[in-house]
Amino acid sequence: MPELPEVETVRRTLNELVRGKRIERVTVSLPRIIQRPQEPEAFAAALAGHTIQSVERRGKFLRILLDGLVLVSHLRMEGRYGVYRADEPVETHTHVRFHFDDGTELRYKDVRQFGTMHLFAPGEDLTLPPLNKLGIEPLDEAFTLQAFKKALSNRTTKIKPLLLNQAYIVGLGNIYVDEALFTAGIHPERPADTIKPAEWVRLYEAIRATLSRAVDVGGSSIKSYVNGQGELGMFQHELLIYGRESQPCRKCGSSIDKTVVGGRGTHICLRCQPLSKNRRVAAAKSNVK
Ligand SMILES: [Zn+2]
Repeated sequence: MPELPEVETVRRTLNELVRGKRIERVTVSLPRIIQRPQEPEAFAAALAGHTIQSVERRGKFLRILLDGLVLVSHLRMEGRYGVYRADEPVETHTHVRFHFDDGTELRYKDVRQFGTMHLFAPGEDLTLPPLNKLGIEPLDEAFTLQAFKKALSNRTTKIKPLLLNQAYIVGLGNIYVDEALFTAGIHPERPADTIKPAEWVRLYEAIRATLSRAVDVGGSSIKSYVNGQGELGMFQHELLIYGRESQPCRKCGSSIDKTVVGGRGTHICLRCQPLSKNRRVAAAKSNVK
């Protein structure tokens, strides 16, 4: 699933490609992609005649701003956008086509068919699902160390599922959470309330640095993710731990483990990311009894 850096890359590319284009009509071939309004015919009719002003992002959602409308789109597993000439052959799994009045089309293709589109009046989109309960943007100024600790540090839940929960911090998924926890030297199963002040600083800095670097190089192309212009992101060549099961840790040389945390495949170096001292002491004490 594309995470913040990949969606940001798609956003930038799409913004260049479709800004200023006027939608003449919309064709929906897979109604279930369209979540709001429920009828695809109403969705298509509402968009006809509107011009795209810019493409924004909130978490892993794209916000396509038009004159008088906001289209919120989530790519989920494998959704992709591309701009084509109207006479170019339509690839299979193309589910929504936005026909522009200049003879080009924005096409949405989604092999897995999990993507969603919601249409709102301006301003309405941020106050209603799916965007209304989203947490802090990790690359915004509002994401300070203080805000980060305030959101997570008194929780008893394991740190990895907390970081994946979009209600606290948006945009992080399995790849960038594993990378950030490894960089910070924190075990993914550490309860948040056992994480020390110095570790919060390291984790905060790791999240910012990992995401910024990934955005700079266009995100990661892990499976089939391709950005709006069909270029591949390059961050997969810089991954420190994700996808490196049984390979030597880049910091200490030990073999990287793969386990499951909160139902998600998780990469850990047990030497660089030990469980906390307190937990080991607690375990030792319970053994003595
Ligand atoms: Zn290591």
